[in-house]
Amino acid sequence: MSRIYYIAGNWKMHKTRAEAADLARALRTQLQDGVHKYLVAPSFSALETVGPLISGSNIRLGAQNVAVEEQGAHTGEVSVLQLKDLGVQTIIVGHSERRHVYKEEDALINKKLRLALKHGFEVILCVGETLEEREAGQAEVVCESQTLWGLAGLGATDLANIVIAYEPVWAIGTGKTATPEDADAIHASIRKVIGRLYGTSAAEQLIIQYGGSVKPENVKALMAKENIDGALVGGASLKAETFAAIAKF
Ligand code: PEP
Repeated sequence: MSRIYYIAGNWKMHKTRAEAADLARALRTQLQDGVHKYLVAPSFSALETVGPLISGSNIRLGAQNVAVEEQGAHTGEVSVLQLKDLGVQTIIVGHSERRHVYKEEDALINKKLRLALKHGFEVILCVGETLEEREAGQAEVVCESQTLWGLAGLGATDLANIVIAYEPVWAIGTGKTATPEDADAIHASIRKVIGRLYGTSAAEQLIIQYGGSVKPENVKALMAKENIDGALVGGASLKAETFAAIAKF
């Protein structure tokens, strides 16, 4: 199996440009001998600052969201063309805060994902169940359905630029983490769906990150699981020391 580990930091709506610059500089130094694949996703407002600071390093520049249209009268949105202009390489779509707070639905997320792929971006598609869905025994079904919807219309070759992040909603920013076993079971079921749709080789190569209160203390046990290929990190990505400890687990 040739999958690499991919550790991504989602800075959410944190950091001024000066703070983002400090964090980017520190990460560039602290991750330079890191052996995995890395990404940081600052706010739109800090992309222009952070981009040049990590350019030529082993850290990719990510955006946390993208508009569903290429350009036009869409007040408050940022388009693929503008993200490309800023040097963004990867776009996160379907984050649970977008799904649940901003009511983004699967069809919209799929449209964003396809637009981003069309413009040559790598895409991280987030999926994950709520606590009610988990307690009702629906975790797998919900994640499979979000995966199917998210990837609708894609061919096997598109998958080379797709990463899936399994992020149980109840574990995001709450300090609660899925057990490595529970997370691995969902990852395995997502991989199975991919295998059914796109074949075993595509499924074997797909990187599936886990997200939800990943910390230096729990990262090793999570990454030890067969189907967990990295992490999407929120809170613990805001300090260089904690993110670097996770990134170099
Ligand atoms: C996230 O926002 O993607 C996330 C996983 O957040 P946290 O690590 O803070 O739970």
